[in-house]
Amino acid sequence: MSQIYDRVALIGLGLIASSMYWAIKRAGLAGEVTGYARSEATRDTARRIGLCDRVCDTAQEAVEGADLVVLCVPVGAMGAVAKDIAPVLKPGATVSDVGSVKRHVIEEVGPHIPEGVHFVPAHPLAGTEHSGPESGFAELFDNRWCLLVPVEGSDPEAIARLRALWEGMGSNVDEMDADHHDLVLAVTSHAPHLIAYTMVGVADDLRRVTDSEVIKYSAAGFRDFTRIAASDPTMWRDVFLTNKDATLEILGRFTEELFALQRAIRTGDGQHLFDYFTHTRAIRRGIIDAGQDTDAPDFGRVKAKS
Ligand code: NAP
Repeated sequence: MSQIYDRVALIGLGLIASSMYWAIKRAGLAGEVTGYARSEATRDTARRIGLCDRVCDTAQEAVEGADLVVLCVPVGAMGAVAKDIAPVLKPGATVSDVGSVKRHVIEEVGPHIPEGVHFVPAHPLAGTEHSGPESGFAELFDNRWCLLVPVEGSDPEAIARLRALWEGMGSNVDEMDADHHDLVLAVTSHAPHLIAYTMVGVADDLRRVTDSEVIKYSAAGFRDFTRIAASDPTMWRDVFLTNKDATLEILGRFTEELFALQRAIRTGDGQHLFDYFTHTRAIRRGIIDAGQDTDAPDFGRVKAKS
């Protein structure tokens, strides 16, 4: 793979930025990658583990001279970061982001983008429940989708270059409109996370099932809820605050379906339950056929070496 940008700046050095850095290095996609994180502790960790070619003490320093700047901070922090770096952005540079919500980011970041600088928002559909500079790995984006969400007037050449970067990092790339993106993600990611948070909270409240029992017997489904519910609280707070409408719409639909299933259980309507579960099983099959998960038993966990 050949070099796509001379200089890339990563603002925020958590799971996504660190995975980007290792993936960029793996394929030689950039000449130099600079990085900035808000806290000194994160910057020190980044320097210690060799994350980024140069770790800077200010966002402006990291951004100066960069051809591509990627905002990798929580959605609620994007606007303030964009405002801070705007005066030093290089003419002709591209600003992108990796935020999980797109309409809000476009509204908050867009007004700060100077004339002559391109803005191409993006969202890699890949993650883990871990966060921070040490949680990243080069393979995170392999065979995962990255959605580019160009804004009105986004330069086709800037879009094509960013697409090449994400493809070089292992992703499949699609383009999507911001509102549709936020609805799709409400269904596929945001509402499921909220449901997982709720389920784990409910189990915690249920004192009839002791804590040790919840942990000991968690393999039967609950364990996967706990993994999702361990996701970063700041990131997910911001997702729900900024993708309010779509998430509330999907949760409304979820509640209706839940009531229907509740009624089927109460009235002993086995046919309803059977048909419903047959349909959902087919959806799972579709995800495996699309290569977005494996069919390995035990939820794809790697078996411990005996
Ligand atoms: P992360 O591991 O928690 O890292 C976040 C980084 O942002 C840290 O370097 C943090 O700095 C910095 N930061 C936090 N608040 C800030 C603020 N107010 N101002 C400036 N910097 C701030 O997060 P992540 O998982 O990489 O997520 C980053 C972005 O990617 C989010 O917008 C998220 O929605 C999106 N995303 C996440 C996933 C996922 O599964 N995790 C997947 C796709 C997209 P300090 O360390 O110094 O606090």
